[in-house]
Amino acid sequence: MLDQYGRSIDYLRVSITDRCNLRCRYCMPDGAAFESHEAILRYEEILRICRAATELGLTKFKITGGEPLVRRGCSELVAAVKALPGAEQVTMTTNGLLLEQNLDALCAAGLDAVNISLDTLETEKFRQITGFPGFRREKLLALLRACCDRGLRTKLNAVLLPENREEAPALAALAADFPVDLRFIELMPIGFGGSLARVEPDAVLEGLYRVWPDLHATEEKRGNGPARYYRSAALQGCIGFIDAVSHRFCASCNRVRLTSTGQLKPCLSFDSTVDLRALLRAGCSDEELREALREGIFRKPRAHRFDLPREITEKRIMSQIGG
Ligand code: SAM
Ligand code: SF4
Repeated sequence: MLDQYGRSIDYLRVSITDRCNLRCRYCMPDGAAFESHEAILRYEEILRICRAATELGLTKFKITGGEPLVRRGCSELVAAVKALPGAEQVTMTTNGLLLEQNLDALCAAGLDAVNISLDTLETEKFRQITGFPGFRREKLLALLRACCDRGLRTKLNAVLLPENREEAPALAALAADFPVDLRFIELMPIGFGGSLARVEPDAVLEGLYRVWPDLHATEEKRGNGPARYYRSAALQGCIGFIDAVSHRFCASCNRVRLTSTGQLKPCLSFDSTVDLRALLRAGCSDEELREALREGIFRKPRAHRFDLPREITEKRIMSQIGG
């Protein structure tokens, strides 16, 4: 459906939990509080919202979190969303720790693609960024091989941080070894990301030109999002940049978000939401649910205010929102 600025909104990011098995510094460091189990939407509730979304013309769904794979029954939810008439694409964003053991079930459920978050290939740096001491590069490579062998479209996402800035070429080289895209995400000033140092994506791109001098921008559409992509003859996949702060792409934004507590969130930057959980739990009709969604999507703000921190009203942390 179209929002008030004529943008076509066809993509819903669905956070199914605010819990996670990592503690990324910029997202959910140690000590962050969790929602109660009752506050989190049940799968039937999530599915009802997704069905209403398809009836409004949304066709693409991203299952996210927190870490979606820490919630039991995640692949059954993927299958159920995928089975909705009108749901063309169901994808997932995960930190990958539990992916290998869930891969068969997710592929059987019809998952169309996976994004794996990976900020570093170095065990000690991984611990510094995420709190997890057990990262092994070989395990990650085996996971990528397993995804590619199954024909699952796979992308890697690295948030640009001072800690991994020098490692950018090594991370990007994964797109040489595997047919996967590596996207660098600019740190957004949401939650804990607001108090950390940001790395300029264009400075990183400069460094990549030195490794792959034939790197050139490509207009190919490689996913649901606003990443700008670059190709080199030496790479199987592309290198992408998702730089919402330095290259604002709000004019082509196609998404809204559903938090794990059932709040429809039209824009990352602002705290205004539509409380779909309250509606559902008050026994709303399908038409009332559709109307609330329609209204929330229509009123999606024109643009974020990441350039003006005092105008960012969102106080939730990223693990509560879903990224
Ligand atoms: N746990 C899963 C994962 O890490 O992929 C899914 C949820 S996570 C919140 C989704 C994405 O948001 C991850 O790629 C993560 O790196 C990104 N993210 C979290 N906080 C961010 C921030 N402040 N700025 C930019 N990206 C952020
Ligand atoms: Fe967990 Fe993903 Fe947030 Fe890291 S970015 S703490 S893996 S939800």
